[in-house]
Amino acid sequence: MTETAIKSTRMNAEWLHAPALAKVFAALSAGGADARVVGGAVRNAMIDRPVKDIDIATTALPADVMRLAADAGLGAYPTGIDHGTVTVVADKRSFEVTTLRRDVETDGRHAVVTFTTSWEEDAARRDFTINALYCSADGAVYDFASGLDDLRQRRVRFIGDAEARIREDYLRILRFFRFSAEYGKGQLDPTGLAAANALKEGMSLLSAERVRAELLKLLAAPNAVDVVNAMSKGGIIQRVVKTRLEPDRFARFVAIETVLGEPPDALARLAALGVNNKQDAAFLSHELRLSNAEAERLASASAANPGINPATPEAVAQTALYKLGADTFARAVRLAWAQSGAPSTDPHWRARALLTDRWKIPTMPFSGNDVLALGVKPGPKVGKILEAFERWWMSENFPDDAERQSKVLKELAREAVT
Ligand code: ATP
Ligand code: MG
Repeated sequence: MTETAIKSTRMNAEWLHAPALAKVFAALSAGGADARVVGGAVRNAMIDRPVKDIDIATTALPADVMRLAADAGLGAYPTGIDHGTVTVVADKRSFEVTTLRRDVETDGRHAVVTFTTSWEEDAARRDFTINALYCSADGAVYDFASGLDDLRQRRVRFIGDAEARIREDYLRILRFFRFSAEYGKGQLDPTGLAAANALKEGMSLLSAERVRAELLKLLAAPNAVDVVNAMSKGGIIQRVVKTRLEPDRFARFVAIETVLGEPPDALARLAALGVNNKQDAAFLSHELRLSNAEAERLASASAANPGINPATPEAVAQTALYKLGADTFARAVRLAWAQSGAPSTDPHWRARALLTDRWKIPTMPFSGNDVLALGVKPGPKVGKILEAFERWWMSENFPDDAERQSKVLKELAREAVT
């Protein structure tokens, strides 16, 4: 591997000149250290994709990074100091500053690292050529593994021997597919694909948390459909989503999101791929250690309500939307649409899916106090009356005539008192 500073492809992304980043660069170089932006930020800037986090690699040791940042009046937090990472805060923006590293020991899921001052060694332990690009403060781009060329051709290739790199960390199998789905074009790299297929058993070593993060990014990626199909062919997706899989339903769901012009919903995509009933949702929520909120979103796949189906009248759909809430209703309709096999151009499903845009969920006009004001004594009866009112109100399709509403509530209260 040779270092090439590609002066002709200098980077001039706006964020490179942001004052906050300049302060971090200045702090590190005040100590004589070298520092460069690395990884995703450089990769994405080179292809005009949005840049989220800015990670910085430096020759300074972690303790020196702490001191240099503090000397420059910046915040410095030892967020991952054992593996070399200090979070430096300038103008309220956080930067992960990591000392250059080399692996000394790997066991398929974690690495023991030692610090180094060699950029080449630091690049060699990264996973893909497109992820080993560095950029210094002056905009010079350093490419150690032909990453720029691969990026231009949208190729995701392992640095070094694919099988050896996977044996060091089996998460790289999922990362290979994830980055291919995010940045790749055309066929998957055949060497990477063959290595992933050959070594897939090793993935059972991985923690649920690491798998979850990669899986959700993969499913939300622009090219997820083709990549999931390739993973399915190799028996790889089955090792991560261990329910009955429906890759065609997944493809239809992605097509529906696309026609509706909606951003990818990773959990709904997961549901489209592998949730067939409530048990599947509960199983996957546990397997992937989803939060309660995430688990709920996954379960909306199995929300059952006749109003989800466009064959029912609009009033039935409105009741469904009122009962389920906008989020669950929207997800449930899209998933049922994908399940139905109807094309993404179907006007009836489309209209049902977009009900949330044209109908505002009404709010219950009464609360407990309104019932008490009618002379009902506090107690379980109050709730019963409200429920009875809500049932009537829904069955009449949410009339907003206040007089009529009061009349019904009064009658219900009178019945309950006598
Ligand atoms: P994203 O935009 O998705 O965050 P990223 O490139 O920043 O993309 P991260 O997962 O945040 O991806 O990792 C940051 C960098 O660290 C990668 O670009 C890569 O160089 C390196 N890296 C991360 N995980 C691994 C791994 N398991 N093996 C080798 N290198 C890795
Ligand atoms: Mg990142």
